[in-house]
Amino acid sequence: MVYSQFQGKGYCMKPTGIVRRLDNLGRIVPPMEMRRVLGIEDRDALEITLEGDAIVMRKYVPTCVFCGSTDELTEYKERTVCSHCLHELAKKL
Ligand SMILES: [Zn+2]
Repeated sequence: MVYSQFQGKGYCMKPTGIVRRLDNLGRIVPPMEMRRVLGIEDRDALEITLEGDAIVMRKYVPTCVFCGSTDELTEYKERTVCSHCLHELAKKL
């Protein structure tokens, strides 16, 4: 999957991937080339999930907890809601 994601962007990587060791504190730095291809900048948030036997990191894009929209978001009690859903909720009061 990682291999095919990079193929269309002028970036070719062996299907076996890049091998990196964790440091003494269990940390790892995602390869700069991959961060550049995916537009991940220093200090960006990454979402880390477990998918089968793989740890997958993706650029974190906040979405509305109700509809998944990424437009006009507001945070409330550590949850993100879009303005459309916010207005729909307000109508129910
Ligand atoms: Zn929404």
